[in-house]
Amino acid sequence: MTAALELRGVAKTYPPPTTVTALSDVDLTVTAGETVAVTGASGAGKSTLLSILGTLERPTAGTVRIAGTDTSTMSDPQLSAVRAWHIGFVFQQFFLLDHLTVLDNVATGLVYRGMPAAARREHATRALERVGLAGRMRHRPAQLSGGERQRVAIARAVAGRPAVLLADEPTGNLDTANGREIVRLLASLGDTTVVLITHNAAVAGAMGRQIRLEDGRIVDDSGGAA
Ligand code: ADP
Repeated sequence: MTAALELRGVAKTYPPPTTVTALSDVDLTVTAGETVAVTGASGAGKSTLLSILGTLERPTAGTVRIAGTDTSTMSDPQLSAVRAWHIGFVFQQFFLLDHLTVLDNVATGLVYRGMPAAARREHATRALERVGLAGRMRHRPAQLSGGERQRVAIARAVAGRPAVLLADEPTGNLDTANGREIVRLLASLGDTTVVLITHNAAVAGAMGRQIRLEDGRIVDDSGGAA
């Protein structure tokens, strides 16, 4: 089976004046449908790893394959297309637009695919049903709880059925009960590959695989085979 994500010998050194080595010699293979938690102390390289997996940053060495395709020779517009078609992002802050309805917040995420408005709304409706918010489509973000807002953000990320969902501390702004709901949702996305950063052991434990970073290297991997 083709790996959903594959890193080989990946390193990331930020340029002077800082010249910080954020990642060193990272090999990681994530198969389609896997759910992976990335843990590690602050500064260990988690966000850098997620940015590289999401093609938001380029590595200084090594290769990044998304669904079998090597991204190293791609131009920036080609990488934008990879993100628009294959990758969804969820963050600790929900980044919803307050002046738009829930439905339009989700539909707007599909603009980068060049999809007509009616199709965008159709996909957005399906995604909101998937996250259990069919009854909130006409609400504004301010009328929702934190957990519901994060579900809208997840609906936006998965509306285009990306192969991969990358989440940076998706439960960081939520109480325990809402956090648990979000984790249950992320773990139940079926064939979507999920990689999430978390400081919460319960969240990490709910994922199928746990990897831990220390000083820019993978020091533990419950999946092991990478
Ligand atoms: P984590 O997400 O685990 O806290 P990061 O990936 O954010 O770790 O950071 C790893 C290291 O790289 C840290 O030492 C951080 O200060 C450094 N770093 C992150 N982003 C930048 C940047 N844009 N420029 C310079 N150094 C950076």
